[in-house]
Amino acid sequence: MFDSLQDRLQSAFKNLRGKGRLSEADIDATAREIRLALLDADVAVPVVRAFTARVKERALGVEVSKALNPAQQVVKIVNEELVTILGGETRRVRFAKNPPTVIMLAGLQGAGKTTLAGKLGRWLKEQGNSPMLVACDLQRPNAVNQLQVVGQQAGVTVFAPEAGNTGGGDGGAEGTRSVGDPVQVARDAIAEARRTLHDVVVVDTAGRLGIDADLMQQARDIRDAVNPDEVLFVIDAMIGQDAVQTAEAFAEGVDFTGVVLTKLDGDARGGAALSVREITGRPIMFASTGEKLTDFDVFHPDRMAGRILDMGDMLSLIEQAEKVYDAEQAEKDAERMLGGTFTLQDFLKQMETLSKMGSMSKLMGLLPGMGQFKDQIANFDDRELDKVKAIILSMTPKERDDPKIIDGSRRARISKGSGTSVQDVNQLVTRFFEARKMMQQMAKGGGMPGMGGVPG
Ligand code: GDP
Repeated sequence: MFDSLQDRLQSAFKNLRGKGRLSEADIDATAREIRLALLDADVAVPVVRAFTARVKERALGVEVSKALNPAQQVVKIVNEELVTILGGETRRVRFAKNPPTVIMLAGLQGAGKTTLAGKLGRWLKEQGNSPMLVACDLQRPNAVNQLQVVGQQAGVTVFAPEAGNTGGGDGGAEGTRSVGDPVQVARDAIAEARRTLHDVVVVDTAGRLGIDADLMQQARDIRDAVNPDEVLFVIDAMIGQDAVQTAEAFAEGVDFTGVVLTKLDGDARGGAALSVREITGRPIMFASTGEKLTDFDVFHPDRMAGRILDMGDMLSLIEQAEKVYDAEQAEKDAERMLGGTFTLQDFLKQMETLSKMGSMSKLMGLLPGMGQFKDQIANFDDRELDKVKAIILSMTPKERDDPKIIDGSRRARISKGSGTSVQDVNQLVTRFFEARKMMQQMAKGGGMPGMGGVPG
């Protein structure tokens, strides 16, 4: 899923690469490509329109950033907007204060409700709950049996209207009474869960191949009878443009509290996934990615956006760069370096900034323009950096500002304090002076200071 959307978005960004500034025409062209990519992925038209408009507006209004180049800024905006249309924050299940928590499933036939009941049961059990699955799909032949099978696989109690309860529950007698009336089955199940101390009840309901009034009425009746804490609308992500109509009908018909996307493992273009939250205003809470009970997880909008963009490295770099890159400070440091007034304190601060950005060698490979330093970086040992840091931290502020005062007895004290040898301290101080001298010479000669300040 999302393969072609991924490719299209990436090619839209590619055109921005190497641009120093984005013109309005650049932004227009990119927005157009994004729009076509989304439409091609079967994303609902109003969603596409709103999404593209927001990206465009933000890209036009974006301030010149010293940390990010224009292409990175657009990637960042698109990523953030994707997270937004997917729902923003991860939405967790709301458990009832007084158990049992009731979770009702609704959706078309074949959407994956019964399978989901098993997955939810397994997941809830793993979270330390004691769930019970309830078979209220009395329409589809074999649905009850299917629920019993998945319940057994999940090791979870199933409450069914026939004397076929599996697992620990013994509500068979009560269940048998209710054959044919899903509303009564649901009611009985809640009573049974209370009695047998099951703290979460998952109610599987009947679907139809298409939306119809009877189906909606039945779902509403069950809802009103059991007063669920969550009503989950289960939708097959492969249904493409029909997703909108179906989601709207269920939103109106049963007023669900959350969405579960199923069959995300399929090769559909993913439009439903991107539309359903925006169309219904309800959060996507879970995602199913296969037929096995383990093919299931809580839905995280940010992770899904990341998957769609498939630019994990770029996104984490953007995030880190923004967090730690203080361009003005960097400029000041450079001035001081070249002016020869660079101190050990500056040196330490720079290194802390660098180490905050993660492993040097990995990071430098990602930074634009850093390719020229690749070899130096490949040999860079992060542990060496830790040692240097420890030594500088063991110095007094005065020593850091004016390393010339660091005599023999100070060196002994510093090495003891930092758990290094006097030789290590000597080496650092010597290297620092050499580097500073070199920088001054280069500044006079107009050359680049390169990585002179960094030990290694
Ligand atoms: P229900 O009618 O809504 O209860 O749907 P079912 O649970 O019976 O699922 C219909 C079909 O879809 C079954 O063959 C399931 O095995 C399959 N299915 C359910 N969820 C997924 C999923 O996430 N991925 C895939 N590939 N198949 C799924």
